[in-house]
Formats: sequence, C-alpha cells, structure tokens
Amino acid sequence: MILKECMLIKNACYIHNKKITNGKPTGIVVHSTGANNKTLKRYVQPVSSQPYYNEVIVDLGKNIYSNHWNNYYVENNRSCCVHAFIGVNATGKIETYQTLPFDICCWGCASGSKGSYNYNPSARIQFEICEDNLNDRIYFDAVFNEAIEFCVYLCKLFEFGADKICSHREAYLTGYGNNHGDCDHWLKRFGKNMDWFRSQVKSQLNEENNTHNRKSIEELAQETIDGKWGNGTVRKNALISAGYNYSKVQKRVNEILYSNK
Ligand SMILES: [Zn+2]
Repeated sequence: MILKECMLIKNACYIHNKKITNGKPTGIVVHSTGANNKTLKRYVQPVSSQPYYNEVIVDLGKNIYSNHWNNYYVENNRSCCVHAFIGVNATGKIETYQTLPFDICCWGCASGSKGSYNYNPSARIQFEICEDNLNDRIYFDAVFNEAIEFCVYLCKLFEFGADKICSHREAYLTGYGNNHGDCDHWLKRFGKNMDWFRSQVKSQLNEENNTHNRKSIEELAQETIDGKWGNGTVRKNALISAGYNYSKVQKRVNEILYSNK
C-alpha cells in the first residue's frame, strides 16, 4: 500500500468537523465512484495554502476542470466527502490518499431505515475506489488489492475485525445507508463479492499476527531516527498499526536526540 495525505480542507464536511465519538470509528464502508475515471486528480487536489501543494500536484497531476472535492460542494452542489480515495497517480501508479482525518464523521453513504454509518454512534471510516470502465481485470486486481491492504491497516489501527467492513450496498441493505449498488456491482463482474473481500482482509490480518517479528523499543527508536517510520501522524499510525507502543518509541527517540544519551 502507498498511503499519502491531501486533506480536503475546503470541503463542507471538513469544515463542519463533526467528531467521531472518542475518535473510534466502528468499521469501514467501501465505495466505488460510479464514474469511468481512475485518476485520483479527478477527486483529490490540494489548495495552494496546503504545505504539500507542490508535492501532491507533481504526484497526481493538475485537475484543470477544478471539479475535485477540495471545494465546499462537490459536483451538482452535493455535500459529500470520504476519508480516502484509491486510484492512479499521474504516472498510472495505484495509490491511496487520505482526505479527511480519521476522527471526523464523513458524508459518504447518507442514511437508511435504521441510521447512518456517517454519524455517531455508528460512524465508520469510508473510502472510494476510483472506477474505470469495469472491464479491466488487471486494474481490478490491483486496485482491490490496495483496498484490502488499506482495510488491514485500518483494522489494526482501530482494533476491529474484518467483519466490521461492508460495502455501500450492504450499508443500504442493513439500513445504514441510502440505496446504492457500489462496490458490489464491480466485484460481481469478476466473480467476487464482499465476503471474498472480507476473507482477504481476514487472512492478511491473521498472517501478520502470526509472523510478526517483534522489535525492541531501542531498535524501533533507531529505525524511526533513520526515517523508516515517516513523521508526524503517519509515524504514529504506522507504529500503532504494526502493533507497537507509539508513546514509548517516541519517548526513546526524544531521549536519544535531545538528551545526549
Ligand atoms: Zn457509495
């Protein structure tokens, strides 16, 4: 998985900033965009005030139509936003971009008969997979593999199981979203379904639990100083999702760097 960040700070949902209770989402909703355009730049663009503006534009390319989601409303004056998008960058490489902080309620699946996965007490992380023409097996395999890895990362980060993952269609069927068919319609074209998706996430979670080589705090602190765990929130989330104690590692990093030990 390649995970990068470009927060949609101009989107009404980001500005509204409704927090998920205790910062703990209850699961994941998987969407796909419903439009034949696999480029991330269609949806994800920085605005000039963001520190990573140049970096993201170089990576994704510029959306010359300005119809991306870093606007107050998205197309047709809809209020809409999700936590991440998966699609291709300017060179055709598949990447995941986080677009909302994970502790904000997103506006992804609207409501159903029982409630909504957008809001407390059932708020979930939601992300969109950029659709192509739905005929390309290679793109399908690659983009769903990225989505599975992203879900494994989220399951570890927030300590829930693969059973807490559903599609937008399943959210509708269980009464927590409006009537959409994504992304089951796409899975079906290649003989798959959400049970398959969850089983892939589950087996990767089990595999990593069994084979994980535990590293010492000292070892991790050194790796962190060497830049292997990124910085800021990315570092924190990477260490937590790998099952390590972030605070202890960071404390040791600070000791090494700032107290001449
Ligand atoms: Zn959807």
